[in-house]
Amino acid sequence: MKEKIIDMLKKRGVNLEEIAEIVLDMQGPYNEGLSFDECLWSVQMVIEKREVQHVILTGVTLDKLTEEKKIEEPLLSIIANDEPLYGVDETLAMGIATIYGTIGVTSFGYLDKAKPGIMGRLDKKESQLIHTFMDDIVAGIAAAAAARIAHTRETGEIEDDIS
Ligand code: MG
Repeated sequence: MKEKIIDMLKKRGVNLEEIAEIVLDMQGPYNEGLSFDECLWSVQMVIEKREVQHVILTGVTLDKLTEEKKIEEPLLSIIANDEPLYGVDETLAMGIATIYGTIGVTSFGYLDKAKPGIMGRLDKKESQLIHTFMDDIVAGIAAAAAARIAHTRETGEIEDDIS
């Protein structure tokens, strides 16, 4: 299942490395010597979780069905236009951000506004691809991975990563 999810993200233009970059930018200033590999590992641990995999599956499927116009109106237009008052994409992805507690929620809020790195690219509507859910999913994964690093470094213990 994890490989399938990674493949799914890749097909939608998202590499785990790019998510790890965001995590490093966020957590680097607070964690001396934090490496890119540590961030990438944290991203991978987040994706191990079934609840995270389910959110990714659901969000990516909705983006794809919207591209193929296989959703009924008015929802089709709402998702296609990424309407500002449609908050279901954020609500869904928040489910990822919360798995390591409130630090993830705070980071998610920040990323949702700042849209760094790959998130900014996904947000630009230059291609035919719909990324209404994907940008929030990336924010959710990055926020959870950042929170995981914060907790792990603070307590010195690795949390139970496999759900
Ligand atoms: Mg969105």
